[in-house]
Amino acid sequence: VSSISRLLCVSAAVVALAAPAAAQRSGAKPVQSLGWEETAAVLAEKALKDDLAYEYTRELTTMGPRPAGSDAERRAAEWGAAKFRQLGFTNVAIEDFALTGWDRGVESAVILAPHPQPLAAASLGHAPSTPAAGVEGEVVLFPSMEALNAAPAGSLNGKIAMITRKMTRTQSSAGYGAATGARSAGPHAAAAKGAVAFLIRSVGTDDDRTPHTGTTRYADGRVPIPAFALSNPDADQIERLADLGKPVRVRLNSTARTYETRSQNVIGEVRGRAAPDEIVLIGCHLDSWDLGTGAQDDAAGCGIVTAAAKLIADLPIKPRRTIRVVLFGSEEVAQPTDPQTRGGTDYAVRRAAELPKHIVAGESDLGSDNIYALALPGGFTPEFAAAVTRVMTPLKILVEPQAATNGGVDIGPTVQRGVPVFAFRQDAQRYFDLHHTANDTFDKVDKAQMDQNVAAWSALLWLIADSEARFKGASAEGGH
Ligand SMILES: [Zn+2]
Repeated sequence: VSSISRLLCVSAAVVALAAPAAAQRSGAKPVQSLGWEETAAVLAEKALKDDLAYEYTRELTTMGPRPAGSDAERRAAEWGAAKFRQLGFTNVAIEDFALTGWDRGVESAVILAPHPQPLAAASLGHAPSTPAAGVEGEVVLFPSMEALNAAPAGSLNGKIAMITRKMTRTQSSAGYGAATGARSAGPHAAAAKGAVAFLIRSVGTDDDRTPHTGTTRYADGRVPIPAFALSNPDADQIERLADLGKPVRVRLNSTARTYETRSQNVIGEVRGRAAPDEIVLIGCHLDSWDLGTGAQDDAAGCGIVTAAAKLIADLPIKPRRTIRVVLFGSEEVAQPTDPQTRGGTDYAVRRAAELPKHIVAGESDLGSDNIYALALPGGFTPEFAAAVTRVMTPLKILVEPQAATNGGVDIGPTVQRGVPVFAFRQDAQRYFDLHHTANDTFDKVDKAQMDQNVAAWSALLWLIADSEARFKGASAEGGH
């Protein structure tokens, strides 16, 4: 009886569903009578004409920066939960957790000698304040983290260590991954040699005077010395001054502080019709750095995954499985040594009992420029890969022969616990011009490229959620 009443409801919904123009022209069948793969293609077509991801990102970024643990992040979470309800998602929840927050305060950096001038610089996340009068010292340049590590003990007493390594612009995020080690470990390594402060050339690919912040790593529960990123032109300038052969002296001022606070994850679902306890987990992070409005990092990702799920929710028939969207809190200041301070860990720990029923996890956290490839979750069948390939090819997305092994920071703790993962590869050539800077603002979002993301996400989500496909986790024992 219930399935008959469901069908009656469905037929009413079909009337309201606008068939794609191409389908109307060709006299194609209405969506509800399409097959599994055809429905994915129709979803992709609809996504390319959809505004939700773009308008979501516009609205979220009007709230300004959303540092983890801040009142602004909390307001964004409440907005995100209200948006889920407004879109018709179910089981909407906010789950909060403790966090050591970081506030930038007021900061400045200047060159004192040989030619006094201001510097465009920004503290790294979790770096401590300087004394009120600032910290001054002669800059010692190192081309790499390895060179800093090789400096003799005590050789940096009273000095300021600076790493000058340039990030390489790559299509994938590989250039970024190769350069972040110095940002994470540099302050601790410099302090161990006696340095009073640490500088790093921005981990970014632009030539603007916009420093790229980013978190640095605790050692023994704190960052030992003040640590700043210099904009790339300012890093160049220090190198030119050093080439003059005279000591380069710098003064840094910062009132940065840490404080105990709370962050939160926001959860909403498109409930599955046949196997609602089977979860297809997708996510993004709601927190952002404080310098811009976190448009590409990662309001856009939240817009993309929310819009993809909404397109599926609007189908006359729900998918077999549940699609769960999580707007994670506290990604940016996550400390690898302190697992309770990021949303991804809180989710994996709190929802541990549900993880065996997680079919797959994926996240969108590399801005909103085009997707060029997809790595499927492990254990996919040739038939499944062939169907995905037929749907992705018109979107100019290559399906990689190798399975994904990880998908991002937020779903990392879930994936480490054995949940299979997929990964869309996005073009990152422009992303790292903007990432973690004051320039990460809504005007940088290219709607056509964002729409291609939503198309790919909605199609893949449908193909997974409306199937009985099973995958394998990336960790050796964790597959299920
Ligand atoms: Zn991000």
